[in-house]
Amino acid sequence: MDKYRVKPGTKIKLSDYDPEDKTQFSGGKKEAKARLAELIQRLGELQEVLYAEHKHKILVVLQALDTGGKDGTIRAVFNGTNPQGVHVASFKVPTPEELDHDFLWRVHAQVPGKGELVIFNRSHYEDVLVVRVHNLVPEDVWRKRYAQIRDFERMLAEEGTTILKFYLNISMDEQKKRLQERLDDPKKRWKFNPGDLKERALWDDYVSAYQDAINETSTKWAPWYVIPANSNWYRNLAVASVIVQALEDLNLQFPEPAEALDKIVIQ
Ligand code: AMP
Ligand code: MG
Repeated sequence: MDKYRVKPGTKIKLSDYDPEDKTQFSGGKKEAKARLAELIQRLGELQEVLYAEHKHKILVVLQALDTGGKDGTIRAVFNGTNPQGVHVASFKVPTPEELDHDFLWRVHAQVPGKGELVIFNRSHYEDVLVVRVHNLVPEDVWRKRYAQIRDFERMLAEEGTTILKFYLNISMDEQKKRLQERLDDPKKRWKFNPGDLKERALWDDYVSAYQDAINETSTKWAPWYVIPANSNWYRNLAVASVIVQALEDLNLQFPEPAEALDKIVIQ
């Protein structure tokens, strides 16, 4: 899945990334389901060791345009993990109190501690995306944020955090299909937000904002992955593969017992 990692210093064009791409998996949907089941199980095992070792911190950032599949990814990829040690932080329109602080204030409060895995469902990136597209702050304010984000994430990484950032890349046609499903399917209607249509009209502005954010902040310590996301199964497989590989690379270990346990006799 290294194909999807945005190498630091390169300037990518999102139009070069095909939302339908499936080249990194040789099987079809059926084989993918079996492979995903293995990855989910492995992620569960690794997360248990992560929690037990109480050393590393894992931060997964999920960003996408509306209907991009953030919720579905969370449901599918993390369903083998233990809720003790894993949590999802969702970032909505900031409250008045949050707006009275710097943009990273509410974000910093949610980052993982030792042994924890935290998933950001939206994130500090909204402050260079929706905020930029809607001119919620002047340009000289949001422009500085790229460097502020790089510095913030480097600090987290130096403090033991593995940061993985995913942009779930859907096409405009796929969004149309998904919005229509939300209108048609009684079980999905609760997700339909008429405001999403206004955002859809700003599609090109969002894509430009995403492209700049990714180019400005894909670093060695906090890389971005542009994940083809028109197909749910491929998206889930890609995200799960990247996370499992990152955890494997940490060489997680159960902690050594404090004393020789073989001498202990339980009466
Ligand atoms: P949802 O994820 O569908 O529940 O929607 C959350 C909404 O909050 C989205 O429309 C985001 O763009 C918005 N949002 C999140 N963070 C910010 C932010 N920092 N400033 C303005 N809007 C935000
Ligand atoms: Mg929404």
